Amino acid sequence: MNAELTPLERAVTTEIERRRDELVELLCDLIGYDTRAPDPDYTPRDEALLQDYVARRMRDAGLAVRVWEPEPAELPPNRYAIPDGHHFRGRPQLVAVAAGTGGGRSLLFNGHVDVVSAEPRESWASDPFAPELRDGRVYGRGACDMKGGVASMLLATQVLRALQVPLRGDLLVTTVTDEESTGAGSLAVAASGLRADGGIIPEPTGLTAWLGTRGSLMPAITVEGRAGHAGFPPAHWSAGGPVNAIEKMQLLLDALQRLRREWQLRPDTQHEVLAAGSIVPTALRSGQWMVSYPAAATLECHVQYVPAQGDDEGYGTRVEAEIEACVRTAAQADPWLAEHMPRFHWPGDAPAGYVSRDEQISATALDAMAALGLPATVASRTTFFDGPTFTRAGIPTIAFGPGDIQHAHAVDEHVPVGELVVAAQVLAVAAMRFCGVASTS
Ligand SMILES: [Zn+2]
Repeated sequence: MNAELTPLERAVTTEIERRRDELVELLCDLIGYDTRAPDPDYTPRDEALLQDYVARRMRDAGLAVRVWEPEPAELPPNRYAIPDGHHFRGRPQLVAVAAGTGGGRSLLFNGHVDVVSAEPRESWASDPFAPELRDGRVYGRGACDMKGGVASMLLATQVLRALQVPLRGDLLVTTVTDEESTGAGSLAVAASGLRADGGIIPEPTGLTAWLGTRGSLMPAITVEGRAGHAGFPPAHWSAGGPVNAIEKMQLLLDALQRLRREWQLRPDTQHEVLAAGSIVPTALRSGQWMVSYPAAATLECHVQYVPAQGDDEGYGTRVEAEIEACVRTAAQADPWLAEHMPRFHWPGDAPAGYVSRDEQISATALDAMAALGLPATVASRTTFFDGPTFTRAGIPTIAFGPGDIQHAHAVDEHVPVGELVVAAQVLAVAAMRFCGVASTS
């Protein structure tokens, strides 16, 4: 480990700084492509055009590039929330490989190129798809999450190639779609047979290291009531009277809140770095008419679980069972609910994952951060990103990149140009240290 830059590393970081304007231009080009996550009919937007643009840059830098639309059958068995009928037609994935000279570790750079909706668009100070450079920041949808990071990893790769740095191990660069919606893009890429000894995803970590993330589940819980006129004193439900589904849901909300409080302290829901497991009610739908008893209520929650709560495969099946048991116990205590048990819908599962600080990829990234004068901060109090998908496929993968996650998915999303440059520098130095550099003498 080396806190100082070697002369070759210094040459690389200097060259990246010299190409700052090109980095900004590259990011602006990426933002100009409309790659919003697909609507339910999967009509493609500019995904293929963007991937062509990246392919051209990587080919010009001498990498072998594969761009393809994975078949649904190429996805491995999984519990991700991928709807039936999902496909990649018009939304290709990209893998570029710079073969090493041999004898070194191989490194994966991965970034998603899909972005979320820009609504409410009228609140933006500038057009979200016409990037603008203002006050040393690039503004536009995806500037922060995570076309900024993609631009940094592409420029880092280009500079390593331009200076003919003889990396020993292979350097793999992948750009994927479908991260914001399902995680299917990286799932397909990880299953495509690519091999690497470690991976870095330049998500907007604010130049800290995220070594992993909690898993997430998004259950919908439906409670049945019975409709009736709200303006009259009700008969008892056993005599055919109405039942207020909202008030029955209140019993379940209370039970879930007690479980969340328990998770805040219970040993098996803690993690040394990640936040404790949590259950957050996020949507409640109920009611047919303002003077009718609501006949049903559906509650949606965002549940996040730490790796220790996962099952043998790292998924949240035990968490699902615990939440269902908690709700059923509360329901049993209520005569109506005991006879009309709440129904559960579990639309999918994004597994938890964590790469220890001692793993080579974590140690190298933290070391490269320090060499560029950054504090070696591990800050993984985060939510889903593609890291665990690769970690679970045998490539321990962390996140490090430019931009503040608070500006992701937000109006006037932006990323500071200075952070783009530093991120590219750290990524390049991490590649040199992780893959190794062959001696040229
Ligand atoms: Zn992201």
